[in-house]
Amino acid sequence: MKRESITLNGTKYRWPLRPMVIVCIDGGDPAYIERGIEDGIIPNIERFVQNGFYAVCDGTVPSFTCPNNMSIVTGSPPAVHGISGNFYLEPDTREAVMMTGPELLRSSTVLAEFANRGAKVVTITAKDKLRQQLQKGIDLTKGNISFSSQFADKCTMEENGIGNMLELVGMPQPDMYSAELSLFVLEAGIKLLEQQRPDLMYLSLTDFIQHKYAPGERECNEFYQNLDNAFGRLVELGTALVLTADHGMNDKAKDDGSPNVIWLQDLLDEEFGKDTTTVICPITDPFVAHHGALGGFVRVYCNGSTSRERTLRFIEQLPGVESVYDRIAAAAEFELPPDREGDLAVLSEAGTCIGAAAAAHDLEGLKGHRLRTHGGVSERKVPLIISEPVNDEYQARAARRTLKSYEVFDFAINGPAQ
Ligand SMILES: [Zn+2]
Repeated sequence: MKRESITLNGTKYRWPLRPMVIVCIDGGDPAYIERGIEDGIIPNIERFVQNGFYAVCDGTVPSFTCPNNMSIVTGSPPAVHGISGNFYLEPDTREAVMMTGPELLRSSTVLAEFANRGAKVVTITAKDKLRQQLQKGIDLTKGNISFSSQFADKCTMEENGIGNMLELVGMPQPDMYSAELSLFVLEAGIKLLEQQRPDLMYLSLTDFIQHKYAPGERECNEFYQNLDNAFGRLVELGTALVLTADHGMNDKAKDDGSPNVIWLQDLLDEEFGKDTTTVICPITDPFVAHHGALGGFVRVYCNGSTSRERTLRFIEQLPGVESVYDRIAAAAEFELPPDREGDLAVLSEAGTCIGAAAAAHDLEGLKGHRLRTHGGVSERKVPLIISEPVNDEYQARAARRTLKSYEVFDFAINGPAQ
């Protein structure tokens, strides 16, 4: 095996000298880390922050799961990798399409590039929706592994490069809406590290807990203590550990606890008439009970006669709206692929979220919880924590400007002194 560096999207990555584990803490707003350290409940993470490296980066906007995971693993913005939401409207058919298919991902990944040079690569995701893109280009017949804890009980050699995950991990199949769905990812990572010592491992969790609980709440503290414990064990196994997130999280409920929502489709229908516009909520996936498909970023498609300019002016003055961009401006501002943008992109303020028509959203799943969600600029800040210090060049870069989350792999792999 030739231990060569690889180059992808203009960045050169050296061969990792020891196992490198990158964990994407879904919804892992820096506020959780900062509060946890303040409360003294996450000693391992605290040690990495003090003795290793810590920065707060700008994640990709829309601050959703799929675009950000792809920005991290491709080391590029959505303008390059193409994944700009969990969901988009296909321009020719006007049909809403999930953006989870590997054919929609326009870039190779750092994981695939290393796997193709002979590195042993493992990717584990909590929700299966990310799996196919994470494993794109990785040959699972050559000892590489890719699976989701959502379907841990259905792993096969053909599909995942490994079978029998429940037995290996020694945990029951976790529920879709549970902390265990994330903890299973970490326990599986630890087991595979012990048994197979992969060169590169990417572990992506789920934000079920962060959607429900604010920093400092009991259930949240318990979750972060469990994460911290697993992180400690990963480092004890001799890995270089990197912690980041796909997006942050904000409380978007009113004083009385009800969700603070702009029902944009209803307002547009009232102003311009029914069927003149289509609002698409790109946070949507089939599992939305914990946020009711409400986020801080939506796309508006203007049908035929409706003027974009008039629609933009109308939306702009709505209370709680932070900004509205047309297709070109949105693509330029957030490095997005213009062909997957709507006519307008609408972003809400930190304390507000945007929905389509009130009748189309099922808020039953919130079950008395305050709505916490993400999607806008206010939820783009993510932590980057490395268990060891980075060299002078990378220190200087981090001191000079706010890092982008698509630099995470660059920092993770090239940053630590060797
Ligand atoms: Zn997420």
